[in-house]
Amino acid sequence: MKVKHIDHIGVAVKSIDQAGKFYTEILGLGIEDVENVAEQKVNVAFIPITDSEVELLESTDPDGPVAKYIDSRGEGVQHIAFRVENIEEALEELKERGVRLIDQAPREGAGGAKIAFIHPKETNGVLVEICER
Ligand code: ZN
Repeated sequence: MKVKHIDHIGVAVKSIDQAGKFYTEILGLGIEDVENVAEQKVNVAFIPITDSEVELLESTDPDGPVAKYIDSRGEGVQHIAFRVENIEEALEELKERGVRLIDQAPREGAGGAKIAFIHPKETNGVLVEICER
């Protein structure tokens, strides 16, 4: 598959307002937009840096995946996303090579991206997302 660059790093936070201050006030970056992704029960704040972004993920529901992540592991880096040229081809290749996936088919992520997650057992504990936009 053709991986182009790191698309974003997803950081699980309890509060975008609170956590965002480090990125804006200390690092001098800007929060470009905040989007609600209802399916994932999160608000996502986009903080672009050249070709990549930090995405702050704030749960909107105590039963959502990000809330559960914070309950078990605390706030912090939750996933790394690699941008691929063609996500359907990438998923086919991963399946052919026997790589366990969380998503067998692409689904819609924040910012209109097509995304899929690889099982963290395949990646030494890192939740890896591939995405195409
Ligand atoms: Zn992501």
